[in-house]
Amino acid sequence: MHKTSSSRIIVVGGGVAGLTAALALQDWASVTLIERETQLAYHASGRSAALFSESYGNAVVRALSLASRDALTAGGYFEHRRGALHFGGPEDNALIDDFARNAHALLPSIRRLSAADVSRLVPAIDAETTCGGVHEPDAMDIDTGKVVQSTAAAFRAKGGEIRLGEDVLRIERQGERLRAVTTAGEHHADVVINAAGAWADVIAERAGLAGLGLAPKRRTAFIFDARGYDIRRWPLVVDIRERFYFKPDAGRLIGSLADETQSLPCDAYPEDIDVAIAVDRIEQATKLRIGRPHTPWAGLRTFAPDRSPVVGADPRLPGFCWLAGQGGYGFQVSFALARLTSALLRDDKLPDELAALGLTRTAVAPERFLNSGQCRENS
Ligand SMILES: Cc1cc2nc3c(=O)[nH]c(=O)nc-3n(C[C@H](O)[C@H](O)[C@H](O)COP(=O)(O)OP(=O)(O)OC[C@H]3O[C@@H](n4cnc5c(N)ncnc54)[C@H](O)[C@@H]3O)c2cc1C
Repeated sequence: MHKTSSSRIIVVGGGVAGLTAALALQDWASVTLIERETQLAYHASGRSAALFSESYGNAVVRALSLASRDALTAGGYFEHRRGALHFGGPEDNALIDDFARNAHALLPSIRRLSAADVSRLVPAIDAETTCGGVHEPDAMDIDTGKVVQSTAAAFRAKGGEIRLGEDVLRIERQGERLRAVTTAGEHHADVVINAAGAWADVIAERAGLAGLGLAPKRRTAFIFDARGYDIRRWPLVVDIRERFYFKPDAGRLIGSLADETQSLPCDAYPEDIDVAIAVDRIEQATKLRIGRPHTPWAGLRTFAPDRSPVVGADPRLPGFCWLAGQGGYGFQVSFALARLTSALLRDDKLPDELAALGLTRTAVAPERFLNSGQCRENS
């Protein structure tokens, strides 16, 4: 698909994916972003733990994260060199050794820590109750609010249009173009980008296509006080079996069950039981005493079956493109995915820097879920 500066593009979804892509596309096309809610980033993008970790996710995600790092740095979006610590109980020694070996091969700065090192880094972990951990010193806190607001402002400054409170109800072919019917009227475009997060499969269905099997998964979080600990230099601390994590945030700690509960696309709410289980696990594994957690929330992390994002044109409907399945990595991969979306649409080509990192088009293409039995055809 080769497009020119007269191309009109509609982006469906005002989360980090839609916004960063809209900004990249506005360089050479005329872009309108449509968001159903009356504010941007109301869903997943307003509920994240805001971490950037180059060791997180599969090889595709890691390449996209690495390729986003410069843009996140240049935009001033990194707030703090937080670090990340994976730690285990006495029975987890082999798991920690394995993880350390694999992670160190990817990132030489990653180190295996002894039990005493772990306890020195995070004194709430008793050296007697851990076999040690793995430390990634260069994991960063992302200022996610700044990413959203600055990207929206830059997009508007370049002439991009953001329409809030408008639900995309139907997408259909009309001659050479696509027509998007919304609750406020209709829009015509050469290309429609599906950046609808948990609703990406719903948007496909509204375009008459079967979904790709994208699965929204709920994750629960809450805030608690560290009570007696100076947490300013603590890293994000995650159980090696991913049963919980906690992370300093504005003088308090964010705690999470690290849950992945299958959900319908919705405005996700936390279940009391998930908060209670997370509190219990954190208290069992550390000396932290949480008491009453504050401000629980939940958000949906939406995964494709192979846990890699889905980017590119859908061969079943010319002009309909995917930008979905960012899972738990949507901020850390955002700028590379935006560049990728723009390059695939404009030049039909993978950017060189992504190819150099080993990324292939096939690894992110929607085709990988077509004709595989994972894609449900509309009856
Ligand atoms: C608890 C939690 C912790 C996380 N931690 C991290 C982290 O540390 N690091 C990281 O990088 N990522 C993290 N993530 C993941 C990250 O938040 C997501 O991957 C990212 O926000 C997804 O962005 P998105 O734009 O695809 O989706 P969303 O932000 O959900 O945006 C999609 C938008 O599409 C809109 N939409 C849907 N249907 C329609 C329609 N019909 N018409 C118009 N608009 C529509 C929705 O209203 C929504 O605003 C976390 C997520 C959660 C929930």
